[in-house]
Amino acid sequence: MVVSRPRPIATPLVKAFDQTLGTPLTKTPITTLQINLGRRCNLSCSHCHVEAGPHRTEELSDSVLEDLLRLINDFPQVETVDLTGGAPEMNYGFRPLVEAARAKGKTVIVRSNLTIFFEPGFADLPDYFARHQVQVVASLPCYLQDNVDKMRGQGVYQDSIRAIQLLNERGYGQDPALGLDLVYNPPIPATDQFRLTPDQQGLEQDYKHYLAEQFGIRFNHLFTITNLPIGRTRFQLEHRGLLLAYTQFLAAHHNPATVAGLMCRNQLSIDYLGQIYDCDFNQMAEIPAQLPDGTPVTVSTLIAAGSLDVIDQVQTRSYCYGCTAGSGSSCGGALL
Ligand code: SF4
Ligand code: SF4
Repeated sequence: MVVSRPRPIATPLVKAFDQTLGTPLTKTPITTLQINLGRRCNLSCSHCHVEAGPHRTEELSDSVLEDLLRLINDFPQVETVDLTGGAPEMNYGFRPLVEAARAKGKTVIVRSNLTIFFEPGFADLPDYFARHQVQVVASLPCYLQDNVDKMRGQGVYQDSIRAIQLLNERGYGQDPALGLDLVYNPPIPATDQFRLTPDQQGLEQDYKHYLAEQFGIRFNHLFTITNLPIGRTRFQLEHRGLLLAYTQFLAAHHNPATVAGLMCRNQLSIDYLGQIYDCDFNQMAEIPAQLPDGTPVTVSTLIAAGSLDVIDQVQTRSYCYGCTAGSGSSCGGALL
C-alpha cells in the first residue's frame, strides 16, 4: 500500500485563519459523513486535490467498511452519506455503503467523474444510481470542450456529455428524487491576475443554456468550487511561484458571512483507513480531526464513544481562506 508523504502546509506571511475569525472554528452536530473510499480513479485531473489516478491502490478494507456500516446503521442523526474518492464507484465498499444508507432512508451522494460509466464493468451504473435514488454530483469543470479536455484529459468532455444523457434518460435532472448537480472548478491561476470564483447563479444559467441547446441536457444545480492551494493545485502554484500571492489573495477576500455555512462544521470526512478529518482538504493535507486532548479521531473512537460529536474545534490552515473568499466554497458549491 502506498501512503503519500506528509508535506509542509504552512504558508508564512498569511494571517492565521483562526486569528482572522477571532475565535477557533467550532463543530456543530454532525449530520453528514463524507467517505473517501480510496485514491483509485480512471482519470488523473490536473486540479485533483486528492491526487487520484489509475495507479493509486489505496482503498477501504473489510474492517473499515464494517465500522462505516455501523456508523450508518447506529446514528440516525446522519442525514447524508457523501461518497467520494478517487472514483468512488471503482473502490471496494461502494455498493454496500450505498445500499445500507438508502435502507436507512439517508440521502446518498456520489461524486462521480461520469466517464467511469464507460470503463469495463461499470456500464450498469446509471441504472444502479437511479434504482437506489443516488444523488449524482458530477464534475464538468467547464461547459466548453477545450477547457474540460485540457483539465481532465482528451475525450473526457464527450464521455461526460454522453454520461449525462444516459442519466437524463433515466429521469435525472427532472425527477425530484433523482438529483443531478454539476461542478465547476476554475482553472488553476497561471499568472498573478487572480479572480474570485465566478458567480454561481450566473454561470449555472450559462451552463444550462449551452448544454440544453447543444446536447439537450438537463441538470439541477451548478456548484462552483474554488481551487484551494492544496494537492496538485498547490504543487502547480508553487511551480509557478504563485502560492503565497494566491493564498494572500484568498485571505484578502475573506468574507465572514460564509463562516456559518462551512462544510467542515457539520461533517466528518473519513478516509479509506477509517481516520477522521474535518473535511476532504484536511484529509489530503493529512491533518486529522482531534479530540479536545489532541488525540486523532478514527471511526473506532466514534464507535467506542457512542457519539459522532466528539470534536470541538475544526483544524484550520491558511488554505481555509479558499472556503471563505467571496461567496465562499464547499462541496455543495458557493455558500452565499
Ligand atoms: S475524476 Fe476526480 S478523483 Fe479522479 S482524478 Fe479527476 S478530480 Fe481526481
Ligand atoms: S479547508 Fe474549508 S472545509 Fe476544510 S477546514 Fe478549512 S474552512 Fe473548513
